[in-house]
Amino acid sequence: MPRLSEVIAALENLWPPERAEAWDAVGTVVGEPDQDVTRVLFAVDPVQEIVDEAVRLGADLLVTHHPLYLRGTTTVAASTFKGRVVHTLIKNDIALHVAHTNADTADPGVSDALAGALDLRVVGPLVPDPSDPDGRRGLGRICELDHPLTVRELAARAAERLPATAQGIRVAGDPDALVRTVAVSGGSGDSLFDRVRAAGVDAFLTADLRHHPVSEARAHSPLALLDAAHWATEWPWCELAASQLDEISDRNGWGLRVHVSRTVTDPWTAHAASVTTSSTVATATTTAQGAPN
Ligand SMILES: [Zn+2]
Repeated sequence: MPRLSEVIAALENLWPPERAEAWDAVGTVVGEPDQDVTRVLFAVDPVQEIVDEAVRLGADLLVTHHPLYLRGTTTVAASTFKGRVVHTLIKNDIALHVAHTNADTADPGVSDALAGALDLRVVGPLVPDPSDPDGRRGLGRICELDHPLTVRELAARAAERLPATAQGIRVAGDPDALVRTVAVSGGSGDSLFDRVRAAGVDAFLTADLRHHPVSEARAHSPLALLDAAHWATEWPWCELAASQLDEISDRNGWGLRVHVSRTVTDPWTAHAASVTTSSTVATATTTAQGAPN
């Protein structure tokens, strides 16, 4: 049975903390280095719901993608949302470890898991890490499809293969356009438009896309955009990461029990589809007014 410090060393070997962005807060948030570890839970968000799940499971270590604290704090009082998380973890002897942007840029990383979930063949990183001589690490991935799909079919595949969320998949672009190459980036991909355009791909699948950047990207190129729920684009990494730790456990004879949380922690909980979707508001207005036809 390994100690926490040994498991953390293995995790930091997969996702070295020094490879995280300067603004990020990764690594061990809560934990006693000498504590024994038998059960590990992977999840995207370190929220109370997930911590309660870790308690029920009898986990000794929770590994999340998102940090608990990104900025400095002066309190972990249990009356605060994050303080309650810290209290629950410590009272139940559960450690918390975060792998965020250091897992994004890893090889394999968050976007490899996303590409894998969609059966896309990864060609290379969208934004290569200059410190990687092999050119495999970096943000996002450029991928190829074995057989071209229409934008509509690719969106349907994403909706089917990614875990279900209230949002589903939003699409910008011609639904019948053919996609042979696609860039993917787990999490918020707004800032990557220039790199996506430079890559010359047919489509870009990411999360948290906003009106103005999408509007601008559409004006400049025929690039199709697919916007999934942030949580759903990062969840496949939990399964990848869990399988990586499983392998390490087997190699070392640790006998760890490694789990992946299936709790949906995407903050959006419902979606009402418009009655009529049309490219012109006039059509919908006419219908609403009951104009003669
Ligand atoms: Zn994220």
